Amino acid sequence: MKHANIAVFVPHNGCPNQCSFCNQRTISGATKQPSPEDVAAACETAMQGGCEGAYVQLAFFGGSFTAIDRDYMVSLLEAAQPYIKSGFLNGGIRVSTRPDFIDDEVLTLLKKYGVRAIELGAQSMDDRVLVLNQRGHTAQQVESASRLIKAYGFELGLQMMTGLYGCDEDESFRTAERFIALEPDTVRIYPTVVLPGTMLAELYLSGEYKVDTLERTVEICSVLLEKFEQAGINIIRLGLHAQQDVCDGYLAGGYHPALRELCEGEIYYRKIKSALEGKPQGRYDITVSPQEISKAVGQKKKNINRLAQCGYICKVRGDERYKRYELTVTQ
Ligand code: SF4
Repeated sequence: MKHANIAVFVPHNGCPNQCSFCNQRTISGATKQPSPEDVAAACETAMQGGCEGAYVQLAFFGGSFTAIDRDYMVSLLEAAQPYIKSGFLNGGIRVSTRPDFIDDEVLTLLKKYGVRAIELGAQSMDDRVLVLNQRGHTAQQVESASRLIKAYGFELGLQMMTGLYGCDEDESFRTAERFIALEPDTVRIYPTVVLPGTMLAELYLSGEYKVDTLERTVEICSVLLEKFEQAGINIIRLGLHAQQDVCDGYLAGGYHPALRELCEGEIYYRKIKSALEGKPQGRYDITVSPQEISKAVGQKKKNINRLAQCGYICKVRGDERYKRYELTVTQ
């Protein structure tokens, strides 16, 4: 079934601190706090946009939804009720929030107002990295909140970042393992991008912090992608959304509008290399699913060129019988 998300950003409202990487205005592209009327207007617009037959969900993103002023939070949820009752919002409501603002009382309230999915901005499961990046919560709080969310029957989403200040790739892989143990329904992976006006920008400009390059980001995130997919967890986002103010304004980091495709290409590169291991240099046919040819070839033929540098002249062809990531190499 087609999914349609009606996104309403609640920027930087209710945050008890200022995370090292966060410039909410730049990330969400929004500065104004939405009103209940804005929520209703977003639903009305979506209704005219042809969502027939789709799974339609209203998503409050961009802030710490359960940490905002309680009356304001309820007013936003109230505004969605007519659209839930009419059946238009057949996917209910999705919110993203902080792990330290989840408890029985707020989960009971969210359930009452038709929230179905809760995403936690966990970012890391290493307390040292959380402190260094001024997150203001612990890994233990992520675990407790996740378990409570699942116990209440909500869909659980976890968000992590790679390349934060003080972290290395092993930390990212350990975070992924601890996420997998929590059995989330969805995961989002956001490689760190240094935005102006943030603590990371100061550290980066002073030389104290080296953010992962795009190449390094692709190496790390492609491993994470494989780990989560093998665990049967749906990765609903990899990389920041391609918004003009992020594209134009970021200082450094692993940003690319088609990051997921780059990572999938990297997975193919590793698989092809492994299939060629021990084989003599020469010409080879690589067979993959027809839908996967461009990923196997790599963006701008990156994989083909890298293989050629190792002495393997490869041609990629499609075969309907192959599944995603399945391949054979023949001479
Ligand atoms: S909790 Fe979220 S919105 Fe608040 S400062 Fe941190 S990253 Fe930004």
